Amino acid sequence: MTASTATQSADVVAALLFILSLAGLSQHRTSRSGVVFGACGMALAVIATIVFASRDISGTAVALIAVAMAIGAGLGLWRARAVEMTGMPELIAVLHSFVGLAAVLVGWNSYYEVEARGSAQTAVAADLLRIHHAEVFIGIFIGAVTFTGSLIAFLKLSARINSRPLTLPGKNLLNVGALVAFAALTVWFAVSPELGLMIAITALALLLGLHLVASIGGGDMPVVVSMLNSYSGWAAAAAGFLLNNNLLIITGALVGSSGAYLSYIMCKAMNRSFLSVIAGGFGIEAPSAGDAEQGEHQETTAEETAALLERASSVIITPGYGMAVAQAQHPVAELTRALRERGVEVRFGVHPVAGRLPGHMNVLLAEARVPYDVVLEMDEINDDFAHTSVVLVIGANDTVNPAAMEDPASPIAGMPVLRVWEAGQVVVFKRSMASGYAGVQNPLFFRENTGMLFGDAKQSVESILRALTPRPSRTAEPDARSPAAQAASAH
Ligand code: NDP
Repeated sequence: MTASTATQSADVVAALLFILSLAGLSQHRTSRSGVVFGACGMALAVIATIVFASRDISGTAVALIAVAMAIGAGLGLWRARAVEMTGMPELIAVLHSFVGLAAVLVGWNSYYEVEARGSAQTAVAADLLRIHHAEVFIGIFIGAVTFTGSLIAFLKLSARINSRPLTLPGKNLLNVGALVAFAALTVWFAVSPELGLMIAITALALLLGLHLVASIGGGDMPVVVSMLNSYSGWAAAAAGFLLNNNLLIITGALVGSSGAYLSYIMCKAMNRSFLSVIAGGFGIEAPSAGDAEQGEHQETTAEETAALLERASSVIITPGYGMAVAQAQHPVAELTRALRERGVEVRFGVHPVAGRLPGHMNVLLAEARVPYDVVLEMDEINDDFAHTSVVLVIGANDTVNPAAMEDPASPIAGMPVLRVWEAGQVVVFKRSMASGYAGVQNPLFFRENTGMLFGDAKQSVESILRALTPRPSRTAEPDARSPAAQAASAH
């Protein structure tokens, strides 16, 4: 078997493993096998590339590759073991930035290998050379946008910079202008590949990546993360063309298209325009911060909440990012058991973007062994809040913000939210009056039927558990639901 046939065979097997990996990752039940398929595919791809390429390169180069891989693998293992669940999105954003940077470096390297030396010194046929020029340019452009865009996403997700959207005057014009300039420069470079144009496109794309992601508000960050995932795939595919590596092209296309589809699904779930988000919030101009005077809030205590829960006939718990930060899922599961033993109906309402990762809350609740059948999606439970005695909002904020429905000028206007305020009584677990991830004030905290239970969510839930009176079975107690809700359920 020739090296080329062996490489192609390895590429086909690895590509199949990547497809199996994506199929496995699409379902909770099969996700572990999806990860295993992906890891096997990647191991095969790396080994085959090194083994077959090592015939044409020096021993020193192979040794350098081995050293780079050992350092990378060591760092990767260390970060993967150390990262908290709440830190996953920012880790993913950093990893996307590496793919973008790699694509930029591959583009520059390819420029020096081919264009800078002139066509006479290369094996590339003259009529194909222009295509190569365009490939270099496109690869660098996508890679640089991915690189700086992912860095800004990392800074926003890790709260190192404010998550509010940057609204420069004429921001839409700036984005469109950058795209037009990219198209014009690509044509110019294809005709005349000069170093100055390489520098110009790299700088332009780096700035565009910064601006695109900085212009998107905190509430839309879930879409940005999956969009950058998609861009990193296209950047890898572009690098695959330059390196003449078919597997990199296939893998990049798989990541690019699956990331684009995930972005589309998330946009639909959040009632956002897909095109507007991928174009850096195109069409969305300077939203209000929603910081208008809201009035007074009422505080409650763990003891009062325990008494309220004991009187309730039905309870819905809406978990959010704060539950993950506090690691409150285990006491929350214990509270669920304690209330169910008292005959209280307890269910969970999970918003599609609660937390910082798709499926974040479902993973935490499954880890705490909350039964699947009481964990409902937003659409399944939203109509039930009006007939519910008590809602416990545990570390959620943006996902229960009525401003999304009631204030058209709000940055999160139009985003579907859990309508918790329709319940008889709402208790909000958080540490302060601070806003949520989108940086928007939450009018829920000032409603008459809302009590604020300040403190770390885990400690608050544990205090409620201690305050519950030991009671083996449920006895008839007054219904804590609002008169409207009682009347509604009576019909
Ligand atoms: P938010 O991020 O809106 O709010 C979380 C709340 O938890 C804060 O108000 C905070 O208030 C509170 N909190 C933090 N730590 C604790 C603690 N130890 N104990 C008690 N409370 C705590 O949460 P949501 O889940 O409602 O919304 C998710 C947001 O994240 C949305 O804007 C979404 O768009 C965005 N996002 C989601 C992603 C996803 O894929 N799911 C990815 C990226 C972003 P305080 O500080 O006062 O305690």
